Amino acid sequence: LRSPCRSFHGNNRLLTSQIVSYYESINQCKKELPEYFNFASDVLDEWARLEKDGRKPANPAFWWVSDEGEEVKWSFEELGSLSRKAANVLCEACALQRGDRAMAVLPRVPEWWLLNVACMRAGIVFIPGTSQLTAKDISYRLQASKAKCIITSDTLAPALESVLPGSQFLRSKLIVGRGSRAGWLNLKELLAVASADHECVKTRSQEPMLIYFTSGTTGFPKMVVQSHSSYGIGFTISGSYKFPSLKHCVTGGEALNPEVFAKWKIQTGLDIHEGYGQTETVTICANMKGMKIKPGSLGKAVPPYDVQIVDDHGAVVPAGEEGTIAVRVQPTRPFCLFSQYLDNPEQTAASMRGDFYVTGDRGVMDEEGYVWFVGRADDIINSAGYRIGPFEVESALLQHPAVSEVAVVSSPDPVRGEVVKAFIVLAPAFVSHDPEKLTHELQQHVKKVTAPYKYPRKVEFVQDLPKTATGKIQRKALKSKEWARVRQGQE
Ligand code: ATP
Ligand code: MG
Repeated sequence: LRSPCRSFHGNNRLLTSQIVSYYESINQCKKELPEYFNFASDVLDEWARLEKDGRKPANPAFWWVSDEGEEVKWSFEELGSLSRKAANVLCEACALQRGDRAMAVLPRVPEWWLLNVACMRAGIVFIPGTSQLTAKDISYRLQASKAKCIITSDTLAPALESVLPGSQFLRSKLIVGRGSRAGWLNLKELLAVASADHECVKTRSQEPMLIYFTSGTTGFPKMVVQSHSSYGIGFTISGSYKFPSLKHCVTGGEALNPEVFAKWKIQTGLDIHEGYGQTETVTICANMKGMKIKPGSLGKAVPPYDVQIVDDHGAVVPAGEEGTIAVRVQPTRPFCLFSQYLDNPEQTAASMRGDFYVTGDRGVMDEEGYVWFVGRADDIINSAGYRIGPFEVESALLQHPAVSEVAVVSSPDPVRGEVVKAFIVLAPAFVSHDPEKLTHELQQHVKKVTAPYKYPRKVEFVQDLPKTATGKIQRKALKSKEWARVRQGQE
């Protein structure tokens, strides 16, 4: 492929559907992945050409509205021209070359998308980081990624400065916004004088485009390398929904408790469509629009992924049996699966089992192919031979009005090996209740709504739960603390 558009004629409607069906065919493995692919030149620039020829309705390429009502609207032509200027800024003033890495710690301002496209054009690997990261998080990410450029806003720059001297790889620092600081370049000023001529690099489909850090729920975040095709082609397929008003709700990243599903339905009249995936895979299962939703399930495999539940040897287990959620990589490795964990060959190798990439999450597939989440493998509790997933116990506890948030982990026990322990954040109305009575009541409640052996033998009321920057509960951190504390007490 250069782009399919170059060989297509006809009106825009036909062209759009042809492009989408071309990429869909790749996703369904009916067509081969092109050797070269670059979203900026193969998709955005094609749309700009259609726009210029009047063969495309005048819909903006980009439309951003801030909380204060400030608007930024770009046509494809404007996005193209601005991102070419930004690519020149990165290559010249920031001294970045193809293959170099640039990390952006930014709120979702228009420049975030602009720089994304600029990096695609220049072959620079973009590393997005949320503005909620702490100085320690940023320091770790800079060192691990060996990023040569850091991009941030004028308001975040002062906080970042404390960690920057520690990074020996950093060559340039770029501020987005109005402010100026000594030692920092300013994107706005540089864009005003930059040339709009830039030749987009010809990237191979599998060439690195992005490095995402995983959430770090279980340890140090890992660097997940995604290629030009994995995101570029995936996005081309999913760009078609419109949301004039709320019609469709999705969730992912953490288990969706039935309680949340039910409350949402009552208050909005809408179902939540749950999806499941990882930084490594993007979405692998989903309750997609139009299909039967099974509340509480992760949905069915999303093409091109062949999702199976496998045992410890990589053999597929029968429907209804618990195992590891896995993605088939033989004979064909899905092109949208990450390439590797950067600088971590051991972890990369450990993620493969026989013909499968293993997610590290436990689940069950039913007869209709829907996958049900049990828990992260490390979070499963083994109490006197019973294997208990934290999700089910947490869901049961959340049905009680006293429970605002909860995390269930194992606690060491001299007789049972491990027992179920619940860390609970109470709803405000229950904070002054007698803790012993409340514990008993919650234990009885769990015994009633789920298998009695799953009830939490230990309960601790806490102010809050440890979470990652993206709000995921760090059960592993709670478990380590719990085990250390109990063992210390036993000595
Ligand atoms: P790390 O790998 O650094 O420990 P992480 O696994 O949380 O962190 P992500 O890639 O952001 O990093 O998250 C993927 C994980 O999130 C999945 O492996 C799974 O455990 C969990 N997850 C994602 N979607 C769901 C879901 N719908 N239900 C339950 N868990 C989910
Ligand atoms: Mg993970």
